[in-house]
Amino acid sequence: MRIVLLGAPGSGKGTQCKNIVEQYSLLHLSSGDILRRERAAKSDLGKKAQSYMDSGALVPDDLIIKMMAKAISKAPKEGFILDGFPRTVNQAKELDKSMADAGQKIDFVLNLEVDDGIIEKRITGRRSCPKCGAVYHIENMKPKKDGVCDNDGTSLVQRPDDTSEVVANRLNTYHQQTEPLVDYYKKNGDVYDIRSDRDPEIVKADIFELLDSPA
Ligand code: AMP
Repeated sequence: MRIVLLGAPGSGKGTQCKNIVEQYSLLHLSSGDILRRERAAKSDLGKKAQSYMDSGALVPDDLIIKMMAKAISKAPKEGFILDGFPRTVNQAKELDKSMADAGQKIDFVLNLEVDDGIIEKRITGRRSCPKCGAVYHIENMKPKKDGVCDNDGTSLVQRPDDTSEVVANRLNTYHQQTEPLVDYYKKNGDVYDIRSDRDPEIVKADIFELLDSPA
């Protein structure tokens, strides 16, 4: 199964990807996570991506397309879920082309919908563990001890691009460059809109029901 998960930053893509990956044994390919790993490793790509990411802009298509093609080529036969990619119509067209070349196709395009006001609260309250990657929220998903990861006791941090100023830019970028993708996919097939301002467990159940339904 090959899935594209669309949605603004903070719409719950990471949480729902984790659920889907556990249930269907897919490879989770998050372009943002891959870029953050490249930055931590101080690779050429990481260095090139840095300033775009810190300002909330998109990293240029050519860099991203190459990076994701490499990641997708390593996916197991069970398939993958793309999280944060494609993010422009150009990236989607390139993805379609490379899928077609490999005799494959995207089976499901899911679109998580949440209003901007809720997203701002979600993202600016988000804290994560720099060691294991666990994600918390200062109000909705508190760790057992304030500011400390439940798994390994590491101090939690805020992603530099989760501050209110950068979040406003990221939402702007999303509306201008990524939202047109929903229409692109709607013109080319089915897109499943899922309201993601509900309890994440209910969203998860809706997604599983959809993925389990016969085509
Ligand atoms: P994310 O964790 O998905 O919100 O991504 C963090 C940042 O990485 C974004 O704000 C962009 O700067 C960059 N990024 C991630 N995925 C892409 C993509 N598909 N195209 C361009 N830039 C991306």
